[in-house]
Amino acid sequence: MIFFSDFDGTLTLEKRELTREFFDILDLLKQNGDELIIVSGRSVSWGHFFLTHFPLKYCIMEGGGVMLYLDERGEVCQEPLIDQKEIDRLAKFTTNFEHHFPRVPMSVDSFGRLTDRAIEFHLMDAEWIREALDFMDKHKINYSKSNVHINFWAGEISKYLGVKKFLDKFFPDLKETDCWFFGDAPNDQSMFESFHNSIGVSNIKHCLHRLEHKPRIILEGDENIGPKGVLNSIRKLQKGTIS
Ligand SMILES: [Mg+2]
Repeated sequence: MIFFSDFDGTLTLEKRELTREFFDILDLLKQNGDELIIVSGRSVSWGHFFLTHFPLKYCIMEGGGVMLYLDERGEVCQEPLIDQKEIDRLAKFTTNFEHHFPRVPMSVDSFGRLTDRAIEFHLMDAEWIREALDFMDKHKINYSKSNVHINFWAGEISKYLGVKKFLDKFFPDLKETDCWFFGDAPNDQSMFESFHNSIGVSNIKHCLHRLEHKPRIILEGDENIGPKGVLNSIRKLQKGTIS
């Protein structure tokens, strides 16, 4: 079975803590020969870290903009999932954007991003955020808000498109309905909207009112916060007690 999962707030706790449940998930999947594919808004550099430090073969980063995988020699490879012209358009826009908003708090990892950039929006007030987003709208730049950043990019990027391209390349015979996705925030909505099997961990309750598309299954209770909810669900899915 393939389990796709968001990272922040889903495989970690909301205060960005990596807990033992994450390692229990990895052990459980290994025992059953199942795959975990992290699908995160974090940068391609984080993807490199995931594949070199955890027993993972694949991940999809930058909100679906780029996938990484280990080749037959165990080397990390990366493949952008949008055209080079959109990558170039984003680079040009970012220079223009930083010129217009010189004090905008770009995330420190923006320099390591290939297909998107990120802003530390918690350092900005509401009006400043609105002005920045209006500027992006004017230049046909897309954006979305995760629990840590506002990410922006050029072209068509979403977690769902990334997962679809990933499955076409590596598992063309696998049906989407044989896979599951876990998430916790608005930047997971493309998966909640288009992917059949989606599960929201219980901390999703804080943003449910802002979601246009909700997960098919919504977990409840402190025992299902973030990685605890993922671990409990994987146990049940492996036993066939959720469908
Ligand atoms: Mg998240």
